[in-house]
Amino acid sequence: MIDFRVEPDFQEKLDWMNTFVREECELVDLLFPSPYDMYDVKHSKARRIVRPLQEQVKAQELWACHLGPDLGGPGYGQVKLALMNEILGRSSWAPTVFGTQAPDTGNAEILAMFGTEEQKAKYLKPLMDGDIVSCFSMTEPQAGADPLEFECKAWREGDEWVIEGEKWFSSNARFAEFIIVMAVTSPDNAPHERMSMFLVDGNTPGIEILRNSPMLTDDLDGENATSAYIRYNQVRVPLDAILGGEGQAFKVAQARLGGGRIHHCMRTVGLLQRAIDMMLERAVSRRTKGKRLADHQIVQAQIADSIIELEQFRLLVLKTAWIIDNEPHGAARTHIGMCKVQLGKIFHDVAQRAVHLHGALGITHETPLGKIWAGAPALAVADGPTEVHQVQVARAFLKNVQPAPGLFPTDHNPTRLEAAKRKYGHLLED
Ligand SMILES: Cc1cc2nc3c(=O)[nH]c(=O)nc-3n(C[C@H](O)[C@H](O)[C@H](O)COP(=O)(O)OP(=O)(O)OC[C@H]3O[C@@H](n4cnc5c(N)ncnc54)[C@H](O)[C@@H]3O)c2cc1C
Repeated sequence: MIDFRVEPDFQEKLDWMNTFVREECELVDLLFPSPYDMYDVKHSKARRIVRPLQEQVKAQELWACHLGPDLGGPGYGQVKLALMNEILGRSSWAPTVFGTQAPDTGNAEILAMFGTEEQKAKYLKPLMDGDIVSCFSMTEPQAGADPLEFECKAWREGDEWVIEGEKWFSSNARFAEFIIVMAVTSPDNAPHERMSMFLVDGNTPGIEILRNSPMLTDDLDGENATSAYIRYNQVRVPLDAILGGEGQAFKVAQARLGGGRIHHCMRTVGLLQRAIDMMLERAVSRRTKGKRLADHQIVQAQIADSIIELEQFRLLVLKTAWIIDNEPHGAARTHIGMCKVQLGKIFHDVAQRAVHLHGALGITHETPLGKIWAGAPALAVADGPTEVHQVQVARAFLKNVQPAPGLFPTDHNPTRLEAAKRKYGHLLED
C-alpha cells in the first residue's frame, strides 16, 4: 500500500514547526550567521535567545526527534523525521533549536548503542539536553574517506589505551566536551577489523588543534572556523573508552554515518525548496525585454527542472526513510548511497540556478542564496565524496548478476522472437 497522506495530528506539528522555523529560527540565522556561534554553548548572547526557543520545542514534544522514547526523544521514525527535517533544513540554527544538529545526532546514537551507563550519564544526557556539543574524528589528512589508509593508531599500556596520530576536518572539536576518535588497534587484522572507536574527553591532555580550516561559507581569516586539524599526542584514555569492542570501529561508524547522511539529505530538501521559493518570487517580480522573467521560456525550463528534480530527490529520500523504518537494520544502505550521490548533484544544480536567476543580487550576501550556493560542494564531500557512494551503489546492483549465457544478451530480440514463435507459432498459421 502506498499512501502519501500525513496524519492530521502530525500535520499540525509540522505546521507549528513551519511557522516557528520561519518566524524564529530564521531570525537567529540573521543575528548569528557564523557556524562558530551555533556550536559554542558558552556564547551567552546567542544562548539567551536560543534557550527559550529550545524550551518551546520541548514543550511541543519536538525535541531530539531522532531518538526513541527510551532516550528522551519521541521516536517518530525516519519517515516523519524526513518531513520534519525538510522544515529544519531552511535554517542553519533550526537543528540546534530542535536538538538534532550534526554531528551530535550520530554521536548520541553511538553512545546510546555502545556506551557504558557511566558514559551515558556523563555525556549522553547533557548532549541530548543541548548543554554540550561533541565531535567525530575519523578523516585523516593523508587518507580522506578511505579508512583502510588510516594511520592514527592506539595501543594498550596497562589499564589505558594510548592514541597517537592526526585527524583532519574534525568539525567542532574546539567546542566539544567529548570526541569520538577512530584509530588503528590491530594493523594485521582483516581490513575492516583493524580499527577501534574511542570515547575521548575533550579536556584530555595531548589533544592539540593544529588549526581550524575556514570553509567557503566561513570568513577568510578563519577566526570563526570550526573544522579542526588535530594531532593526538599520546592521548591516554581508560580501557572502557573503547566503544563497541576492539576492531569494531567500522561497524560503529556505519551505525552512525547512515543516519547522518540521510538526515543531511532530508534537510537539503528543505533548503532547496527555500531556493526554489525564491526563484519563483524573483521570476514573477523581475521584468526584462518587456515581460516578466516568468514569461521567458528558458526561465520556465529552469524552474520546471528544479521543481521536478527536487520532487524526485524528495521521493528517493522518503523511500529510503521508509526502508529504514520498515526493513532490517542495514537494508537501506544502498538507498542511502543513492541519496548521497543525488544530493551533490541537485544541491549544485538548483543552488546555481537560483543564484543565477537573481543576477548580481544572487552573488551577494543580501539573500540567503550565496551561503546556500557556497555550501553545495561541502555536502558532496562530507561523509564521503560522491564517487565513493556511486561505486557502492553500482557494486550492490552488480554483485548478484550473472553473465549472459551465450554470445548475445538474455534480452536479445532475435533469440526471444524465435522462442515466441516456438510457443505461439501454431496460432499464427492462417
Ligand atoms: C563540511 C564537512 C564536514 C566534515 N566533518 C567531518 C567530521 O566532523 N569528522 C570527520 O572525521 N571528517 C569530517 N569531514 C571530512 C570528510 O569525511 C572528508 O572530507 C571526506 O571523507 C573526503 O575526504 P577528503 O576531503 O580527504 O577527500 P579525498 O578522499 O581526497 O577525495 C577528494 C576527491 O577525490 C575523488 N575520490 C575520492 N575517493 C574516490 C574514489 N573511491 N573513487 C573515485 N574518486 C574518488 C573525488 O573526486 C573526491 O571528491 C567533513 C567534511 C566536510 C566537507
